[in-house]
Amino acid sequence: MDYPQENIKPYSKDGSKGEQVKQMFDHIAPTYDRLNHTLSFGIDRYWRKKAINWLRPFHPKHIMDVATGTGDFAILAYRKLQPEELIGTDISEGMMNIGQIKVKKEKLSDKISFGHEDCCTRLSYADKKFDAITVAFGIRNFENLDKGLSEMYRVLTPGGHLVILELTTPERFPIKQLFHFYSNIFIPLLGKRLSADSKAYHYLPQSIEAFPQGEIMKGIIEKAGFNDVRFKKLTFGICTLYTATKENN
Ligand code: SAM
Repeated sequence: MDYPQENIKPYSKDGSKGEQVKQMFDHIAPTYDRLNHTLSFGIDRYWRKKAINWLRPFHPKHIMDVATGTGDFAILAYRKLQPEELIGTDISEGMMNIGQIKVKKEKLSDKISFGHEDCCTRLSYADKKFDAITVAFGIRNFENLDKGLSEMYRVLTPGGHLVILELTTPERFPIKQLFHFYSNIFIPLLGKRLSADSKAYHYLPQSIEAFPQGEIMKGIIEKAGFNDVRFKKLTFGICTLYTATKENN
């Protein structure tokens, strides 16, 4: 099935979304971290902690951080959860190169590894390899949401957990209006000044608005086979935390 965000692409209506997304993230990688923390006023750190804390009681030992980008989520997850294995995967080598430098600086190179993988085609990992999968602010960029979710389901062990963080649009006055102004006017302006790629910061609000949210997203995750799917809106609904389990069989 086609979802609206799958047709929102950074550069051109034609051509593959995956290719364009990869190109965009390779391009913005050097300024990504600074802009990310600036645009979210640092609240992204609180959202990341919420997601990791949800996993804590399950003590996952083999974690894959999908769409790991520059590795912030992977580093925090390693520090808080101390798994035996943590693999960050992404389609953008430019983003992961920055992540690798950070991991080295943090002396975690033997704990966190990176894999060049497209979650919307076939992941190179065996079935049931991981007991937790995390995706922070990446799923909105997937070229094929159903395929991405079904691949995550395949490589997750029965009883394993999925946690997704994604930006969403608040529904209530006045935050809805304020967020619309902030994301459609302010973010593209700041993106133009601080990043080498102004189109990337037009793509950002468009992809947030088009992405399925709340109950609709819950249904899509269930359709991929997951159980006990729940979601919690964070910070007036600017971000949503989705959690799910692969049933034991
Ligand atoms: N998770 C990181 C974070 O929390 O800062 C990075 C998020 S960044 C906004 C989105 C990332 O998703 C990019 O690094 C991009 O390359 C990656 N991505 C997009 N589509 C992907 C796919 N099909 N498979 C793997 N990674 C993908």
